[in-house]
Amino acid sequence: MDFSEAQKRVIELRAVIKENNEAYYVFDAPKITDFEYDELYRELKRIEEEFPLLITPDSPTQKVGDKVIDGFTEIKHKYRLYSLDNSNNYDDLKKWYERVQKENNNNSELELVVELKIDGLSCALSYENGILKMAATRGNGVVGENITENIKAVKSIPQKLSKPVNLEVRGEVYMPVSSFEKLNEENIENGLKEFANPRNAAAGSLRQLDASITAKRDLHFFAYTAISDDKELFKTHKEALNLLSELGFDVNPNHKLVRGINSVIELCAYWENERFNLDYATDGMVIKINSLSLQNELGYTSRAPKWATAFKFPPEEVWTRLLGIELSVGKTGAVTPVALLEPVQLAGSTVKRASLHNFDEIERLQINIGNEVLIKKAAEIIPKVIRKRENENLGVYEAPKYCPSCGAELVKFEGEVGLYCTNSLNCPAQQKGRIEYWASKEAMDIDGVGESIVEKLWDKNLIRDFADLYKLKLEDFMQIDLIKEKSADNLYSAIQKSKTPTMTRFLTALSIKHIGKETADLVANEFPTLDAVKNAQIDDLMQINGIGEKAAKSLIEYFNNENNKLILSKLEEYGVKPQGSAVAKISDIFNGKTFVITGTLSQPRNVFEEKIKQLGGKTSSSVSKKTSYVLAGDNPGSKFDKASDLGVIILSERDFILLSEGKYNE
Ligand code: AMP
Ligand code: ZN
Repeated sequence: MDFSEAQKRVIELRAVIKENNEAYYVFDAPKITDFEYDELYRELKRIEEEFPLLITPDSPTQKVGDKVIDGFTEIKHKYRLYSLDNSNNYDDLKKWYERVQKENNNNSELELVVELKIDGLSCALSYENGILKMAATRGNGVVGENITENIKAVKSIPQKLSKPVNLEVRGEVYMPVSSFEKLNEENIENGLKEFANPRNAAAGSLRQLDASITAKRDLHFFAYTAISDDKELFKTHKEALNLLSELGFDVNPNHKLVRGINSVIELCAYWENERFNLDYATDGMVIKINSLSLQNELGYTSRAPKWATAFKFPPEEVWTRLLGIELSVGKTGAVTPVALLEPVQLAGSTVKRASLHNFDEIERLQINIGNEVLIKKAAEIIPKVIRKRENENLGVYEAPKYCPSCGAELVKFEGEVGLYCTNSLNCPAQQKGRIEYWASKEAMDIDGVGESIVEKLWDKNLIRDFADLYKLKLEDFMQIDLIKEKSADNLYSAIQKSKTPTMTRFLTALSIKHIGKETADLVANEFPTLDAVKNAQIDDLMQINGIGEKAAKSLIEYFNNENNKLILSKLEEYGVKPQGSAVAKISDIFNGKTFVITGTLSQPRNVFEEKIKQLGGKTSSSVSKKTSYVLAGDNPGSKFDKASDLGVIILSERDFILLSEGKYNE
């Protein structure tokens, strides 16, 4: 790039960045994603570094750029509010650290505090003698908006501190993700505009000229900086955070004091994934030098402190093109649309598909094939489509009228959003879905029989329902192309081995509507033989704690249906017979105890579940006060945290074995 090219590009970039600054800060309605913004900003910074002559005082790299909205009065900040320099890779973090070490003339490892970068709205609060006097937004860093009245409506901000100190407190006002989603649902219902993300919702709620509206929104505050003229009040950043907690502020608990840059990188890598389990949005990590005297020595650039830096997470949201919509028909006949996307990088992986939930959702999003769409990484594995580009109108994708698998007409059931194919007997997709489910881990657990094997057996006309699996001979498997799959031998014997399931597994595997694994277990405990289940009356079933009318009716209907009777008799003929009871009890040691399992254990979960039942215990999928024990393996999920919160005893696999042998001391 030569000088004149650079000059041209710099002008372009500044114009786009300024326009977006305004959209973001003044109107709380960003037009591009944060990631795109950061890319533009970094490009501008790179060019200015190469051609320093191009730097002007009003360049966005030289100041914190935003304006005051009409209607709020301006306040001049007592202490300037800076922005933060940021990077999106570990090399830059290391370079920052080395620069600081060099300026400090010291090669020993420095103390750093690593915090989550909360994605909300930063505010400065001034307290005199412990009383809240004034609150302001960051504005351009020198002048901000007076939002004192609105701040008083934020629950977690104390108006009186536990000590009569003079202090400026800075932090982030945010809206929990769950409250943001609820607010958007309400806004949709009331025909109001949706907020693009929790940060915009927080900013839009706080910057209301009518503070009573602010009071109705679920806003919270995490304090992350304290500034005082009294140099004795705290000497390190960590001490300042401790003081803030003591004074009555919420300080984000997920901060850590570490030594050296390697621990920082470990924490960044950890939170990059773990952040999706938090109920507030984060867009990175902030790394600060702990010693305030070293902070003072290092000082500031025109825009940001040299003693702190931010690490930005890879984008959680990204724009891409909708190339098609795949219609998949499940074992219940529900037709689900899945977005097929132009492949993009999102939060560290390549994404080609996203969830669209159902056709009402497509209608709500007003999207069609060809639209550019914003997709977002969610806690689930498959990302979801958030919205389309404004003003890109290509019409709305029309919901199908006929089943893509069998051609039958689709129907909508009262009170349900989905579209269903009701041709349950002859719809290939539904039948294949039920066969796959029969063989799945949750049901009969037939090793190696998954989607692709079922597809091949189906195409060769070898199976039409799950009972057919048991009439297959070894030669049948040799007929199908088994590249990369298990050998014919293994498949054949896995199927044969599955002929004596527990009653629970057998009932689950039948794919009876409203009868999932847990319900099947309840039924199997009361009616331990197939004959007993078949003869059960609706009242008997409804007597069982946890079984409602819907499930009971559905079970009775299933066993009265002629076609199902046929499949059941085929199963019997081929020698598939559930064992007498759910699980044979061998002792009472776990009587009255409820277990919840989380994380990865040395053997599949069902092994532990069956062991628990054999010893008289029960299992459940969620933690509550009634849970006796949580059995936790590696990488436990949120159940672990919930158990700790509720004080439920958490067992390792070893503890569990000791407990089952009566040797565990609580
Ligand atoms: P940026 O907006 O990218 O310039 O980043 C600076 C902003 O990060 C600050 O103005 C704060 O609003 C925000 N921020 C969020 N969490 C923190 C934190 N723990 N420490 C400092 N700033 C934070
Ligand atoms: Zn169909």
